[in-house]
Order: sequence, then C-alpha cells, then structure tokens
Amino acid sequence: MANILVVEDEKPISDLITMNLKLVGHQFVKAFSGAEMLPILEQEQFDLILLDVMLPGLDGFEMIRRIRHHHVPVIFITARDSLADRITGFDLGAEDYIIKPFEILELLARINVVLRRNVQEHTEFMADGVDVHLAARKIYKDGEIVELTAREFDLLEVLIQNRNIALSREKLLELAWGYEFEGDTRTVDVHIRQLRKKLGWEERIKTVFKLGYRLESEG
Ligand code: CA
Repeated sequence: MANILVVEDEKPISDLITMNLKLVGHQFVKAFSGAEMLPILEQEQFDLILLDVMLPGLDGFEMIRRIRHHHVPVIFITARDSLADRITGFDLGAEDYIIKPFEILELLARINVVLRRNVQEHTEFMADGVDVHLAARKIYKDGEIVELTAREFDLLEVLIQNRNIALSREKLLELAWGYEFEGDTRTVDVHIRQLRKKLGWEERIKTVFKLGYRLESEG
C-alpha cells in the first residue's frame, strides 16, 4: 500500500512498528539514526516517514529541517509530550505527532489519515475476484460493479486498512463510524454479514471468537 521509512533508535519499538506495518501490507525501511536516514532518502521514494524525536546525534526536529526538500510527510514519534514540543513539531511541518507508548491501532489510523491526505493514487485491494478502489469508493466483483451502502463501505475500508489484525466489534464501530455513532455492536454483525454475502468473502472475513472480525490477506 505505502512505502514507509521508520526512523527509530529503540529496536523493540522499531520492530513493533514494522511488524504491524507489514501485517497491514505496507512496505518499510528501517533507519536507527538521522545519519542513517539521509542516504536512504536519497536512494528511495517514500510515502511517509515515522520519525522519532529523541535520536542519537541529530534529533528528529533537526532532521525534519534537513529533509524538507524531499516533501515526504512526517509523523513524529516521541516520549516527550509537552505542549512546547508539539508546537515545535507542527511548526517544522510534521503532519502529526504520536506519543509513546502508543496503541498500534492508533498509529495505523494516523498513518492512514496522513497517507489519504497525501497519496493521490487509487488505493486498491484485490482478493477472490473482488477489486476495491478505496479512493474512488468503487468495488468490482468479476468485473461487475458491486453496490455497497456507505456504512458497508466504511466498514470494508477499516477492515482493509487493518487487514490481518483482529478487531473487536467496539473498535470496528469506533473506527468505521466514529465515537458519536449511536449503534450497538450487533450493527457490526449485520454489516459484516452483508459484506460477506455481497463480496463472496465468507472465508476471507474471519470471525474471531469472543472478539470480532479479521480480514485475511496474503498481500
Ligand atoms: Ca529514541
């Protein structure tokens, strides 16, 4: 889906992030310092940079100044949560800011927001003869257009963006339709049933016992 540069000197955090990026289908390159990141940026195109603020040598704030000419969106990752740091981060042109320790689903959600804001190409997902064009909100099954309701599409989009991750019914409600949505979790079941039927995805959207659902994907 996207190519992401992860600049984080703490290996366990870097591993946690990249493992989850991989699960949802993103590509990534790891760098462990600012010095390491510069030559990588010269060689390869990225859709997004996850940039730790506290790095050995030059910190993230200094690095974002030095890479501005690449015009790659940046999300800062930092343990420091003071208001002053947040302002500095946004002043320097970061798209978002996430505080350690963070929930991985929250990080993935923010990545998706930034990518959607910045990536112009059609994001596509293909499985079992179904072709999903996320940007155009169009779905084809064996070449024929599939009609989904707006709610069904929103739910499908969340499943695709968090593919291979088990999501609770509550989380699906929140991510697909927002905190303010006054639905109960059975609403999720109803919409999942419709998606499975319309797309022929009875096997692809797995029920996770006592939790919720997971969209399975090899890619
Ligand atoms: Ca660090």
